[in-house]
Amino acid sequence: MSFSSVLDNLALRKSAVVRRFEQLIAPKSDAELEAMAQTSRALTLQNFGRTMRLFAPLYLSNECINNCRYCGFSRDNPILRVTLSVEEVLAEARFLRDSGFRQILLVAGEHPKFVSEDYLLECIRALAPEFPSISIEVGPMQTDEYSPLVRAGAEGLVVYQETYQRGVYAELHTAGPKRDFDYRLNCPERAYSAGFRRIGIGALLGLWRWQDEAIALAAHVEHLLQHCWQAQITVSLPRLRPAAGGFRPLFSISDRELAQLVCALRISFPQVGIVLSTRERASLRDALVSLGVTMMSAGSHTEPGGYTRRGVGRIHQTVRGRIVPPELQNGEDQLATGQFEISDDRSPEKIVQVLRERGLEPVWKDWEQSLCG
Ligand code: SF4
Repeated sequence: MSFSSVLDNLALRKSAVVRRFEQLIAPKSDAELEAMAQTSRALTLQNFGRTMRLFAPLYLSNECINNCRYCGFSRDNPILRVTLSVEEVLAEARFLRDSGFRQILLVAGEHPKFVSEDYLLECIRALAPEFPSISIEVGPMQTDEYSPLVRAGAEGLVVYQETYQRGVYAELHTAGPKRDFDYRLNCPERAYSAGFRRIGIGALLGLWRWQDEAIALAAHVEHLLQHCWQAQITVSLPRLRPAAGGFRPLFSISDRELAQLVCALRISFPQVGIVLSTRERASLRDALVSLGVTMMSAGSHTEPGGYTRRGVGRIHQTVRGRIVPPELQNGEDQLATGQFEISDDRSPEKIVQVLRERGLEPVWKDWEQSLCG
């Protein structure tokens, strides 16, 4: 059974795990929440030890053919765009490697002209000898399109459903192939069939009531644990951040509720990785690291070329798929536009220091592709 049918029947038919999860995210007193936090900490320690995986996003391109009302890269936003060459991608990656990272997440908007399968393949081939863990977060593909990327060295795939509410999804995704809700929803299984060994899912919090999104997300996790059981499943809980286009979140989730959600996920799914990005401010990230989070980004940039200023000479705007000269304001930074504003801008070294102060060991590398032959 595909997850589409599970989702469509979720209001009537929830598993015991999801029913328990629903209780865990219901309003709690301070004492109840503290008890959840203690259980969550203990389960995290039991399953992951005192470790924190560190990764960095590497933006390849901010070209996109979709209009997602909440995203700065939407095709109708008159932003500064660029697609890095393979050499420029390698230069950005080496900057990250010199900062300690061995696990990178290649991120790109969805645009077959600029971000083709061949382009992705070339990027992965160039990076694979130097990076034991390469994940991708790009437009969803078919299984046979993913397979060459896996063979080239990609081992992780990240795809957020954004919202699990079909009606809300239709309203927010106004143009482009991303309008196909089910094609995106079933992407993790296609990726698993292609051989990805890490699969990351998530919901963009702020588009709908967080409790409804969380219940659907929990059901999705449970489904993937049953159907993609050889893969390592991770969950992200990104909250909407300001971005080009000026979309304002319609719903909110407080810091306290986010912490409760992290605990509820850990208690319900003790072995699932929980990812926290630099979207969240430093003080909250520091509090959540000992609660259940197992993977963090650090020192991130969300614009292509953001680490080394590669690609600045080719900044442009894209109108109906055509490259046009950029309209630059006086003194405007020549970097391409970022996807969203980050909140925690501390360096990787600083994050490492904070983790160690909290008794956690940063993990730069936990996988060696060559051991698989
Ligand atoms: S969310 Fe993804 S698909 Fe949508 S506009 Fe942004 S980059 Fe493109």
